[in-house]
Amino acid sequence: MTDINNVKEWLQEVEHPAKGDKNIVELGMVENVEIADGSITVTLAFSKHRDPLAEYLIGSSKAAIIRNAPEGTKVEVKTVIKDEAPKKKPGLDLGFEEIAGVKHIIGIASGKGGVGKSTVSVNLAVALSRLGYKVGLADADVYGPSVPKMTGTEGFMPDAFLDGEKEVIMPLEKYGVKWMSIGYFAKPEQALIWRGPMACNALKQMILQVRWGELDFLLIDMPPGTGDIHISLVHDIPLEGAAIVSTPQDVALADVEKGVNMFRNESVNKPIFGLVENMAWFTPAEHPDEKYYIFGKGGGIRMAEKYSIPLLGQIPIVQSIREGGDNGEPVALSSRPDGLAFISLAEKLAQQCIR
Ligand code: ADP
Repeated sequence: MTDINNVKEWLQEVEHPAKGDKNIVELGMVENVEIADGSITVTLAFSKHRDPLAEYLIGSSKAAIIRNAPEGTKVEVKTVIKDEAPKKKPGLDLGFEEIAGVKHIIGIASGKGGVGKSTVSVNLAVALSRLGYKVGLADADVYGPSVPKMTGTEGFMPDAFLDGEKEVIMPLEKYGVKWMSIGYFAKPEQALIWRGPMACNALKQMILQVRWGELDFLLIDMPPGTGDIHISLVHDIPLEGAAIVSTPQDVALADVEKGVNMFRNESVNKPIFGLVENMAWFTPAEHPDEKYYIFGKGGGIRMAEKYSIPLLGQIPIVQSIREGGDNGEPVALSSRPDGLAFISLAEKLAQQCIR
């Protein structure tokens, strides 16, 4: 016979990705367990309305019970909100207070993944900071948050505290930039399951709940592509505009078109500050004057002309750029040619925004 303690034991398999992997039983989230003939009903308590991870935790709780309970048991998971302040606005209840001190919020987008959007975002942030701007970067790439690795900040657990009734998250400061990443809250394999509204809410929190302070630029490393998450993000966050990253290949450029159309769509209507052509050519270290156009030549320039957007910069394929990403030391910290390419890019982007 299954008893309440059995169910609680099974529920210990469910870890909360945002709470240092503590399980929901030790976090006191299992409010009630009811066992009737052939059915188990669990009530989970959440302290916030619309916890972005609620759906995930409900699903995982069901899975834990189904895995362990006798075949054919009916499983239901209900939720209850506890410790909620009496009068709360519906929805996520996130205002724009934390971004009130931010002058320019810029999305770094790409039509498809793997073109170097995160590499460009991280190096651009560091380069802007080297130019004397106050900079933050929110890594909103739910499908592959790479800021922790690229900045050597894996394993960082952001501090959160209550300011009045609002929970505020502190960013991490390194290399002169304030960083926040969805990767600080979930393991990469967990991030992959964040879909639809859950991902949208998590992203909004990542940006609107973080105490950014006074910033000249807040860069948002957007998820690749042009789906619903993007539309929701550009609607809910007061983005000033975007920069689009692409490689010069035709297949990547075809997706740039979708990105351009998304930002120029009537309901979004945000300026595109420019195109960044990444992996524009390859120069072997031993032949610094040679350029090999591995992904084709001039694709970025043609695309920029076609859509009347400035070409902000061309970044070559350089081994040190990849290594910098893997080692957590962005090349933009150096004054070698690869670092200076990002300094020029930062200068161009700043010019476009501050015009
Ligand atoms: P995205 O964010 O678009 O998915 P990433 O920034 O994660 O792409 O880059 C994908 C891979 O390509 C990473 O391993 C990165 O180090 C590498 N990479 C990106 N840009 C360059 C470049 N200009 N030169 C060398 N390697 C690069």
